[in-house]
Amino acid sequence: MLGITKARGAVLIDEEGREYIDAIASWYTAMYGHCNPDITGPVANQMSQLDQVIFSGLTHEPAIALSEALMKVLPSNQEKLFFSDNGSTAVEIGIKMALQYFYNKGQKRNVMLAFEDGFHGDTFGAMSVSGLSSYNGPFEDHFIQVERIEVPTENNVDKILSGLKTRLQQENIAGFVYEPLVQGAAAMKMHKPEHLNRILELLKSHSVLTIADEVMTGFGKTGSYFASDQLSIKPDIICLSKALTAGLLPMAITSCSKEIYDAFYDDEIAKGFFHGHTYTANPLACTAALSALNLLQTEAMQNNISRITSRHQQFNETIKNHPKVSETRQIGVIFALDLKIEMSRYGTLRDRLYDHFMENGVFLRPLGKTIYILPPYVISDAQLDKVYKAVSGALDLDL
Ligand SMILES: *Cc1c(COP(=O)(O)O)cnc(C)c1O
Repeated sequence: MLGITKARGAVLIDEEGREYIDAIASWYTAMYGHCNPDITGPVANQMSQLDQVIFSGLTHEPAIALSEALMKVLPSNQEKLFFSDNGSTAVEIGIKMALQYFYNKGQKRNVMLAFEDGFHGDTFGAMSVSGLSSYNGPFEDHFIQVERIEVPTENNVDKILSGLKTRLQQENIAGFVYEPLVQGAAAMKMHKPEHLNRILELLKSHSVLTIADEVMTGFGKTGSYFASDQLSIKPDIICLSKALTAGLLPMAITSCSKEIYDAFYDDEIAKGFFHGHTYTANPLACTAALSALNLLQTEAMQNNISRITSRHQQFNETIKNHPKVSETRQIGVIFALDLKIEMSRYGTLRDRLYDHFMENGVFLRPLGKTIYILPPYVISDAQLDKVYKAVSGALDLDL
């Protein structure tokens, strides 16, 4: 375990003073750079004004300002925001909204639908809709009811749709949880918007609620503010966290359409949505999120996103035909390559790659045979070159 004592911009600094480029932005959070004064400054000011207050019956300016700013950039059908603390909980809330939506309407819909290989977090609902994995084994008996469909490709999309059509006749699926366009933990597996659109369209025509988990994809990483912006079918519910607060403080938001909200708005108290956490809409976290959102909307940050996107494309040209590369893929600032590697060489692959990157001053976390880059938007061209060089260099190792 390596002790990190400092972080600045795109760089992590360890206790010996060694520097590493944070080429995955500390799990896709610190997109505007570590300790960015445009974020830490307002948060420090807020800290001396109002640190924390109950968000029930009381409200505060940072939450109001953040809500107003976020509503302007979210897909236009999103009208209400629900605050919580982390990505798993944002998904948990999305699932609870979908299940209670039908409960309130007196319809028995108690099954959730999800993609195979998805990752939605570590709480029970989020684990349930995630792909089956050995980590979840001990808890499977306690999962909510979930059915899974394959991630669409050119070859299987018609089969998925015809299977779904039959399945939907039972009319008991409440909602579909999906990572739009990129499945992060499944090693940045990507699918096409036109294929996802067809699935969402079919589900909507059967009144299944669509829940976009944009915890990873949100806030510019796919080249648009949200991956859902690239889809013609907009989700009913969106889950946000990670880059929401730029890596400063934990917070999450689940947004929903007016139609969802209205199903909970009733004189009958039991129809309300009862879910509240102690630190809901903490003023410091809201200030961090608002500052981050302001930065994302600057021309400089949008130019950074375009710059990284085209530099990834150039890098891809130099590497995609390498004999040790089986596939490359990219969307926005997310770039991934799969190594062509024999199963027998798999065992210590991750450690050998990780050590190679660290020796070259680059922090990357290979997933299986996939190396992916998801750098902070503020990474410089010289720093990007160093990351690309380390990735190319990995192909020269005896893997
Ligand atoms: C990280 C992640 C989560 C879980 O978020 P936590 O804050 O770690 O609970 C959920 N969904 C996706 C797509 C994620 O990338």
